[in-house]
Order: sequence, then C-alpha cells, then structure tokens
Amino acid sequence: MAQSAEEVWAQCLEFIRDNITRQSYKTWFEPLKPVRLEEEGELTKLTIELPSRFYYEWLEEHYFALLRKAISKVLGPGGRLYYDIVIKRDDMEVGYEGASVQLPARPEAPSHHPPLSRPPSDSSLPEAQWNPVPQASPSAAPSAPAAHPFAIPGIQKIRIESNLSPHYTFDRFLEGDCNRLARSAAWAVAQQPGSTSFNPLLIYGGVGLGKTHLIQAVGNYVKQHFTDTNVRYISSERFTSEFVQAIQHNRVSEFSNFYRHIDLLIVDDIQFFSGKEKTQEEFFHIFNTLHQSGKQIILSADCAPKHISGIEERLLSRFQWGLVADIQPPDLETRIAILQRKAEDDGIDIPGEVIEFIATNIQSNIRELEGALIRLLAEAMLRKQEIDLDLAREALSDLIKQSRTTLTIEDIQQTVCAYFNIPEELIRARTRKREAVQARQIAMYFSKQLTTYSLKAIGTRFGKRDHSTVIHACQSVENQIETDPRFREMIREIQHKLELRLR
Ligand code: ADP
Ligand code: MG
Repeated sequence: MAQSAEEVWAQCLEFIRDNITRQSYKTWFEPLKPVRLEEEGELTKLTIELPSRFYYEWLEEHYFALLRKAISKVLGPGGRLYYDIVIKRDDMEVGYEGASVQLPARPEAPSHHPPLSRPPSDSSLPEAQWNPVPQASPSAAPSAPAAHPFAIPGIQKIRIESNLSPHYTFDRFLEGDCNRLARSAAWAVAQQPGSTSFNPLLIYGGVGLGKTHLIQAVGNYVKQHFTDTNVRYISSERFTSEFVQAIQHNRVSEFSNFYRHIDLLIVDDIQFFSGKEKTQEEFFHIFNTLHQSGKQIILSADCAPKHISGIEERLLSRFQWGLVADIQPPDLETRIAILQRKAEDDGIDIPGEVIEFIATNIQSNIRELEGALIRLLAEAMLRKQEIDLDLAREALSDLIKQSRTTLTIEDIQQTVCAYFNIPEELIRARTRKREAVQARQIAMYFSKQLTTYSLKAIGTRFGKRDHSTVIHACQSVENQIETDPRFREMIREIQHKLELRLR
C-alpha cells in the first residue's frame, strides 16, 4: 500500500480543517489519532482512535457528513472509516471497543435507555434533606409523614432537597476553548440524564475554573425540565460527614436507601474522598446501584483521576467509565467575555479598556476575575468616582502581584496574534499566508521597539528567521505607518493593548 494511515488521515484533516472553525477543529479532531490503514477487496479502511465514546457520539451527530466527504475525497468511493474507542488510564489501555463503527454507511442508532422518568409524584410533599438524627415525633402530629421521611413506605414520593444554587445555570456559563468539551458534555447529559454514555460524567480542573458552576447547571436544568426527577448536589465532604453521622446514629441503611432514590447525583470535589475508606466503600455501592439502574452520576475533581491519591482503584476506575473532561484556565477572550457578561448582569457600565486591563492582568482563574471586578465596583462606590483605568490600576494593585515594566517577545506575539485572531504557532511557522506575514512583521516591529533584544535574537524567536528578515519587517511596518492611515490606526490599537500589559 502506497500510503500510511498517518498520511491519509493528515489529508482528511486538511480537508476538515478548511471546513470548520478552528475551535471545533481543535476540540473534536486534534485529539483523534490514525491507527491503521487496511485494504480489503474494493475497500480501503482507515481506523482512527477516539479518546472516548463521547467523541463517537459527537462526531456522529455533528460531523458525519463532513467525515464522509473527507474520506471519499481522500480514499475514493471504496473508503471506509472505522473508530476505535480507547479509554486510557495511567497510560494503560483499560477499555477497548474495537472497530465498531463504519462510515459512510450510517450505523444503527446507538441504543439509548429511555430518558429518566418517574410516575408523577405528589409535589406537595416537602423536600427532604438527609437527616441523620431521627426526628422526635412532634407531639402535635405524631403520624405526619413529613416528620419521618425515610420511614414511610412510599419513599419514592419524597422530593429530595437538591442543594442547588439557582444562580448556576448554563445561560450564565460562558463557553470558551478552555471549557468547550466539558460544557458540551454537560449539556448533552442535561438533555438526557442517564441515557448517554457519559455516565458518570467527570469534570476536572483547577480551582475557580467553573466546575461547580457547570455541574450545578446540569442539576438546575434537569430539575427544571424533568420535574419528577430527584436531583441531589453534594460535596464529597458533606457526603462524608452525613455518612459518619449515619454510622453514629445507627442509620446507615436509611442513608443508603436515601441515596439510592436519587436520579441525578452530583458529587463535587471527589478528591476529598481521599483516605476515607468507609465512605468510599459506601459510595462505591451507591454508585453501582445508581449506575446499574441507569441513573446519572456527575462528579468533579481538582485534577485528573489518575492523579488523585488515596482513592480505591475500583472506585477510580468507575469514575472513568463515562466521560472525563477537563476545564483549562480561560484564555484572554474568554476572560474578557466573562467580565463583560458579569458587568452586564450587574447592570454596570465598565469601559472596554478597564475590562481588558483586568482580563490581561488576572489570568489564573475566574473566581479571581470576579473578585477583581467586585473590588473595583466597591472602590468606585466608596470614592464616588467613575470607573476608569487609573482607578482600576489603583484598586487592583495588590491583586496584580508582581509588577511588570518590560514586555517579552512572547507577550508581544500573544498580543498581536490575539488582535488578529490567529493561532500563536502561525507567527513562528514557515507559512507565508498573508495574515501570518502581517502579524509576524508587526510583532517583529514591536519586539524591536519595546524590548532590548538584538535583531538576531528576535529573528530566532520567530521561527529561526535571520536578522535581515527582522530589518525588512521593521522597514515595511514603518513605511505602512507613514503611508496608510488605517494601518497606522491598527498599530496604535495594538500598541495600546501592549501598554495594558505593563503595570
Ligand atoms: P470551581 O468549582 O472550579 O472551583 P466555580 O464553579 O466555583 O469553580 O467558579 C468560580 C466562579 O467563576 C463562580 O462564580 C462561577 O460562576 C464563575 N465561572 C466559572 N466559569 C465560568 C464561565 N465559564 N462563565 C461564567 N462564569 C464562570
Ligand atoms: Mg468548586
């Protein structure tokens, strides 16, 4: 065979890349790997590896036609695409669903469980909290069922307190490259809790990146759209303390029973189960019961499951049965969008440059971004002053820790690429695409203007180009500044953005 799987897939990718947005490409196609290329009679079969079943379902639903086109373009009418779904753990393959899918013939629709439903319940019943201490029967109403929610036979009828904060909705959760996969998965689960293959759905990522918000958004959505569904959100710490109390009060079986009646169980920060063996064991059984009966489980953790220590292997492996999706720190555009949205929600007008100043300087997480905004508003109110850049610099000076007076070439590359909305790699690549050439020249010009690097050092940082290229770039930019007012304005805007990076 003349071609390798890699070559064929690379050609397919080229076609795909030209037909979808960069973000979709990055999210859905970059993680896929070509595995093998085989010939079978008339057919040429390309097999690619998908990181989870979720990808399969997503590709099927959204990119079926595109994949088919790509395959027939590259392999001709005898081209077929097969998927391997490989779930990796500790760099070891644990789950494997081989070559199950074939394109261009559309496979049978994956079988779904019916969506969660329950017989209509009496919604006038009070919402029940798990209460470890048996309540003393109020003498006035000794037989009132609400006083003993766990003892009554019609336990299904209990509406379980969901513990959700109504503020955390999908609507308020802004999407960016950093959270796209997690958000899509959460959205898919919210549409059909218990009926997708992402069960459990495990979202992981650093603090303040939106895990709690996202998993609660699913809860709120499900509560609203599947009204008879029992949803419960709980942190692993609270779960642990409830369980410990249940032991102390000899009510473990009621505890178990209570949790087995939940349709959507959301457990936040599972890393805190670490070292709690008894709790883990109880949770293991609850997990199994719920999972087996098609109930949905959603989990969050502060790091990838394979890095969580102190949790039993069998539990860790179950956590990865469904879909594991991460949330990364937000990029600049997402940070700006989030700040703009928060300001809008609060009905306050904040100048764009102030938003950009905060977003540029506070990069770690969204909670800190929000904190900065609140601080700024408070300052403005106290001082009865308009919000402007000076106030922002002053009010946030201690949040913006190390002060910076110089820019690096990377800062400049980042800023320029963000301005032109092109990937940063492009500026260092060998491509001569127009937009890349212009961005590269401008970034070289600013590197010369604003840093003390030599021409040679600058050239090196732009994909090993030599110093004469840098000279040429600077001249070309200067000429255009002289002759083209629109170009001059653009340079002014970029310069302004670069200045915002200096504190
Ligand atoms: P985590 O649980 O990962 O520590 P949270 O869910 O508590 O983070 O998020 C911290 C704050 O940032 C919350 O107020 C949340 O509403 C907000 N937030 C996080 N991600 C987003 C997002 N994508 N869009 C809007 N707000 C967000
Ligand atoms: Mg959280």
